[in-house]
Amino acid sequence: MNLSIAIDGPAGAGKSTIAKLVGKKFNLMYINTGYMYRAVTLMALNNNIKYTDKDGLCKLIDSISMHFEHDRIIVNSKDISDRIVMPDISKNVSNYAAILEVREKLVSIQRALSEKYNVIMDGRDIGTVVLKDAKFKFYLTASPEERAKRRYDELIQKDVKVNYDDILSDIKKRDYIDSNREISPLKKAEDAVEIDSSFMSIEDVVNYISKYITDRM
Ligand code: C5P
Repeated sequence: MNLSIAIDGPAGAGKSTIAKLVGKKFNLMYINTGYMYRAVTLMALNNNIKYTDKDGLCKLIDSISMHFEHDRIIVNSKDISDRIVMPDISKNVSNYAAILEVREKLVSIQRALSEKYNVIMDGRDIGTVVLKDAKFKFYLTASPEERAKRRYDELIQKDVKVNYDDILSDIKKRDYIDSNREISPLKKAEDAVEIDSSFMSIEDVVNYISKYITDRM
């Protein structure tokens, strides 16, 4: 069986930064499942497909090619990684991600990758649904204010004009939709190790997770 590591948690908890670094340390393929839901959202918005249009979404997902190259997502031969982290996609993604048909299709791609490679995967339902049998599961969290600050700093660094209060309200709204949806809501898997990173640096969290894994390998 391949080695799988699951990292779940709410928006802006630092999952992707941490997963990328831990993945490098243990030579694992990093899969950012949030990017997959964001990619579907971007393509749907570009094609005027509403999240209520399940048939349209299924046809769309079946018609696009999606793969990862390191930590970048390539859709229809185009690297859309920078585009999909913009606020217009963040605002819409949770509505698309709540649709059963969208989840089923993306989860089957995620599982297929975990059967082929040793992976570290981050998202909302990795430890609870996608990789229920993952050898290691972590649930990364931080206060909404700290998470909004991190997202704000990230976007400002990319020269995107944003407002802290808008980001905080988007994060709270997404937390609500992601945690209360009917299908695969965000929650800590019973066997996941919870890490509150509000007062920890990235390095602290990476070291903590790395030691936890090394001690048990
Ligand atoms: O991780 P990120 O914040 O980029 O994810 C964007 C959105 O995609 C989340 O707010 C959530 O609605 C959805 N998502 C999900 N399940 C996952 C990963 C992301 O529902 N495994």
